[in-house]
Amino acid sequence: MAEWLSISDVKKKISETSAEEVTAAYLETIAKSSINGYTCTYDGAIEMAKEADKGEGEGLLAGVPIAIKDNISTKGLSTTCSSKILEGYVPPYDAHVIERLKAEGAVILGKTNMDEFAMGTSTESSCYGVTLNPWDTERVPGGSSGGSAAVVAAGEAPISLGSDTGGSVRCPAAFCGVVGLKPTYGAVSRFGLISYANSLEQIGPMATCVEDIATVMDVIGGHDPRDSTSIDREVNYRDALVDDVKGLKIGVPDEYFGEGVDEGVEKAVWDAIGKYEEMGATWEKVSMPHTKYALAAYYTIAMSEASSNLARFDGTRYGPRHDGENWHVMASRTRAECFGKEVQRRVLLGTYALSAGYQDKYYLKALKVRTLVKQDFEKALSNVDVLMGPTMPMPAFKIGEKVEDPLSLYLSDVNTVPMNLSGVPCISVPCGLSDGLPVGLQIIGKQYDEATIMRAAYAFEQNTDHNKARPAEVI
Ligand code: GLN
Repeated sequence: MAEWLSISDVKKKISETSAEEVTAAYLETIAKSSINGYTCTYDGAIEMAKEADKGEGEGLLAGVPIAIKDNISTKGLSTTCSSKILEGYVPPYDAHVIERLKAEGAVILGKTNMDEFAMGTSTESSCYGVTLNPWDTERVPGGSSGGSAAVVAAGEAPISLGSDTGGSVRCPAAFCGVVGLKPTYGAVSRFGLISYANSLEQIGPMATCVEDIATVMDVIGGHDPRDSTSIDREVNYRDALVDDVKGLKIGVPDEYFGEGVDEGVEKAVWDAIGKYEEMGATWEKVSMPHTKYALAAYYTIAMSEASSNLARFDGTRYGPRHDGENWHVMASRTRAECFGKEVQRRVLLGTYALSAGYQDKYYLKALKVRTLVKQDFEKALSNVDVLMGPTMPMPAFKIGEKVEDPLSLYLSDVNTVPMNLSGVPCISVPCGLSDGLPVGLQIIGKQYDEATIMRAAYAFEQNTDHNKARPAEVI
């Protein structure tokens, strides 16, 4: 039976046995898995664990196994973005976050399934097929980092990395009942992250508890000159783990409880806010008037950036090639054959939004809306310490339920994309169940103020039982 282990549980097991045994046990669990969370496992994992055993506990994550989303470059290990266009691609270098994990002794278990190029909310657009939600295998795990959340929820890794362009860490964390953080834009280097929409995305950790999120951030956060948007500031994330929210001022935006919010989700989130009151915090309603324009601006900007970022995948340098009489034919055949439907849709729409004559009307307009959304956050967060609301308006939906209707999928991102437009940090923590399915509470902070959202999340976790709920197959 698979188990939920925190980093400290894993370290305890290592001290009783060895990192090698712990890693071998995870690999065994993964081999028996039926949720399709991994795209591949790493054949060097045992070797890494043996190294950690030799290092005798040196490093913050010595011997601790971790699962990595398949859009983060791993030297010598397949990295495909769950796309046929990168089939067989093995990066010759490590992403910054992987270098940092290795330096602290972590063991890479494998790569996790995702929506193709991180475009999606359900992991259904992966070329490897959908990942099943461990809470109910007829349902999606959320997306796009569905594999990373599902393997943690299924006890197939204690911690994982995802990436969040418009909710891709927080949505699957909410749907799978685990914790997920989107750091402030620039807090984690994107060097080696294969870009979907680079002005919006951040790599973020997922785990079974807030403490582990802080530990992983202490490893992967910090300045990297190879990413020009990387922030140069010293932060100790574990210092934020204080069980005290007395005097904390919470803002609750009405706009996050708009049309179509599931009743069970709404109740769980308000109960959570009530709990904060009991714990000594205060709350007030705040207004975020531009929220309703955020989705349209997000999709315009994300697709525009995608159309340009994905231009490099043309059959020349990476992945398979479908030959033709000249480069144009070769490139268009390769792209038509190897990109999935959703990626093609976004590249086409993005190219259209950037084209001469339409750029002002769509792309530049979206950038102006982005500024307004950002100002909403600045204004609201000048009076309160954090904002709270549901991460997702509904719990995990059924596999196939939304595949024929991309617009309804886009609409489910309504509460997660505004934070990427503005760059602020946000975390999703389990706050109860709706019809037996996990609900995520989203806590949003000021730029660079991960400390306050982590403290709020930590205190909530310490004073409630929500993070003790887990899928039936897991202990
Ligand atoms: N669901 C959003 C999209 O499809 C967000 C994806 C992400 O964060 N990578 O773009």
